[in-house]
Amino acid sequence: MRLTRREVLRFSGLGALVITFLPRVAFAARNSLQSIRTGVQPGNKTRLVIETALRPSYTLEYSENQMIVNIANMTTDDAVAAKLASDALVKSVNQIQNGDKLTLVVNLKKTIAPLNKNQIMVLEPNGDNDYRLVFDFAAGTLGKASTTQTQLTAITPAKKHVIIIDAGHGGKDPGCIGKGGTREKDVVLATAKKLKNKLDAAGFKTYMTRSNDSYLKLAERAELAEKHKGDLFISLHANANPSRSVKGFSIYTLSEKASDEEAQKLADAENAADKIDVSGFEQFSKDIRVALSSLQQHAVAEMSEEYASSCCQSLKRASVDQQPGPDVRHAPFAVLRSTVPGALIELGHLSNAKEEKLLKSSDHQNKLVNAIVKSIKNYNFEV
Ligand SMILES: [Zn+2]
Repeated sequence: MRLTRREVLRFSGLGALVITFLPRVAFAARNSLQSIRTGVQPGNKTRLVIETALRPSYTLEYSENQMIVNIANMTTDDAVAAKLASDALVKSVNQIQNGDKLTLVVNLKKTIAPLNKNQIMVLEPNGDNDYRLVFDFAAGTLGKASTTQTQLTAITPAKKHVIIIDAGHGGKDPGCIGKGGTREKDVVLATAKKLKNKLDAAGFKTYMTRSNDSYLKLAERAELAEKHKGDLFISLHANANPSRSVKGFSIYTLSEKASDEEAQKLADAENAADKIDVSGFEQFSKDIRVALSSLQQHAVAEMSEEYASSCCQSLKRASVDQQPGPDVRHAPFAVLRSTVPGALIELGHLSNAKEEKLLKSSDHQNKLVNAIVKSIKNYNFEV
C-alpha cells in the first residue's frame, strides 16, 4: 500500500505506518524533460514526442479529451515550451510537478482511438536526439480500453494538490505599516491573489483564507486549511523592524520553541493579531489542535521544514534579498498550528524604505510569486 504523506497523517494512529517517516533514500539520477513536440504522420496520425535526458519510466492514462503521461523521477524548474503542429490532435500540454514525478496533461482536440502497444515507443538516443517517448494516435472512438495492456490504465484524473494561501491580517487589523503608509494587509493580499492565479494555472487547487479586506482569526485560517484538506499552507506577511536598515525576506515554520529571540518576537507580533478580537483570543488559548499526536506533529514539522528550505533557496535564486540569519527559522505561530504542513513567509520589510516600494510594485510581487510557485512545484507531495 502506498500512501501519500497526507494520508499517512490521517492514519498516523496506526503504529505500523511509522516507517513512512524514515528519511527518504537517495534518488537515482534525475531525469529531465528536453522537449515536447507533435507532428502529423501518414494516415492523419498525430505523433507526440516527449524527449528526455534518461530512459523514461512512465505511465499513460487517457480519456476522451486528455492523455496523462506521468514520468517518474523528473523535476523541472521551468516548463518546457511544447512545439505543437497546428493540424495535429494536441491542443495544449500542461506540465505539473507531482512530487518526484512530472505529469504531462495532454489536452486533445478530438477523441482518440485506443492506443495499441505498437503505437507507443521509447526510442534510443541518436544524432541530436535524446531518449524519445513516442505516442502515435488518431481520432476515433475510445471504446473500452483494453485491460491486457499493462501500461495503459483507465483514466483517473491526476490528483490536484491543494494549496491554502493565507494573506496575513486584514479588515480591522492592518498588520505593519510602512513609513510611506503601505499596509501589510494590502500588499500581502495583492501578492496572494497573484500566487493563486499562477498556482491555478500550474494545475494546483487553491483556496485563499481571505480574498478581500476582511478580518479572520488565526485559528479560523488554520481551520480552513484543515477543512479544505490542504497539502500545503502558505501564509504571506511583511515584516517591520525598529531599525529601518534591516531588510530581506525570512521564512518560518511552526515550533513550540522559537529558534531565536527575534523569531519569538515576530511570532508574538503576528499572534497578537488575535488580541484585537478579545473573545477570539480566549478561544485561541484552548485551541484543540495542540492535541495533535506527537507523530503527526513530527511529520508536519518535517514536511514544513523541507518546504521552507526549498522556498528559501528558490527566493535566493531569484535574487530576492534575504534577511541575515538562518535559512529557516522556527517560532510558535498560531496560524501554522494544524495538520497541514506549511510555512509563514515574511516577504520583506515595510519598515525599510526601499523594500516598502518594492513590496508595493507589481513586478516585485510577481518575482516573489514566481519563486514561491517554483518551490511549490518542487515540493515532494508524496513519499
Ligand atoms: Zn504579519
